Amino acid sequence: MADKVYQLKGVGYSYGTTPALQDFTLSLQKGAFYGIAGPNGCGKSTFLDLLVGSKDADAGELVFGGRPVSSYTKRELAKEVALVPQNFSIGFDYSVEEVVLMGRHPHIERFSSPTVSDWQRVHESMDAIGIRHFSDRSIMELSGGEKQRVVVARALAQDTPVLLLDEASSNLDIRYSLQIFNTVRRLVDNKGRTVIAVIHNLNFAAAYCDKIIFMKEGRVCEEGSVEQVMNEKIIGDVFGVESEVRFDTFSKTRQVSYRYGRER
Ligand code: ADP
Repeated sequence: MADKVYQLKGVGYSYGTTPALQDFTLSLQKGAFYGIAGPNGCGKSTFLDLLVGSKDADAGELVFGGRPVSSYTKRELAKEVALVPQNFSIGFDYSVEEVVLMGRHPHIERFSSPTVSDWQRVHESMDAIGIRHFSDRSIMELSGGEKQRVVVARALAQDTPVLLLDEASSNLDIRYSLQIFNTVRRLVDNKGRTVIAVIHNLNFAAAYCDKIIFMKEGRVCEEGSVEQVMNEKIIGDVFGVESEVRFDTFSKTRQVSYRYGRER
C-alpha cells in the first residue's frame, strides 16, 4: 500500500543471546510524525538502526516501500531514509559545510562533483537550522549542541522521504530544540515527509507528534494518537513515575507535569 512506509511483522533483534527487540508488529504511515518514547535501554536506538538498515532484523519481516529493507542497497536506502544518530563522531577536521554536503553523497554519482542543486540543498538545510554563519568552521572545534545541529542539517540535506531522529535535541537549548522540531514538523505538513523520532521529553512528543509509540523492555507497549496514549496511567506503566496530563491552553496541546520529590 502506497500510504504505508514501513510494515513490521514480528520483528526481533538480539545482541548475542540478549534480545533487544521482540515481536514488533507495526504499520507506519506516510506523512505522519511518530514519536518513540520509553525508558533507557528499551531498544529505541536499535529500532531506528533496523529502520535505516544499519542492522538486520533477526526475526520477522521488515518491509519498506513494499520491499524488504534487506533487499535495498545502502545507497538506495540512503536516498529514502536519513538518520540523525544519538552518538555521532566525525573524527576528521572537516568544515561544517563539508559535513552537511556528506548528506548529498547518496545522490551524487561516483567520481562526480556536487551539482548546483546539491549545493542549493546544502545551503537551504544550513539556513533552516541557522548554521550558515559557521559553515567554514571545523566540526572539531564546535560545542556538542552546535555539532548536533550540523548533523541535523546533514540529514535534511539528504532530502529523503523519511527522516529518523534519535534524541536530536538532547544537547540543545530550548530555542534550538523548538527550531529543529518546527523544521521537521513543517517537512511533514508541507512536503508529506514521514518523521520517526525518539523523544525523551514527553511534552515535545505531545506537542509535535501525530502518533506516539511507547516502548518497554524491547516491545511496543502502547501505540496511538496523543489523545489516546499520553495519559497518567500509561506514563506510570512505562516509566514508573507519577504525572498529571492536562490540556494546556498556551501551547494548545496536552502537556505533562510530574510529581517532583521536593517538600514545599
Ligand atoms: P535505547 O535506545 O532505548 O536506550 P538501545 O537500543 O540502545 O536502547 O539498547 C537496547 C538494549 O540493547 C539495551 O539493553 C542495551 O544495553 C543493549 N545494547 C545496545 N547496544 C548493544 C551492543 N552493541 N552490544 C550489546 N548490547 C547492546
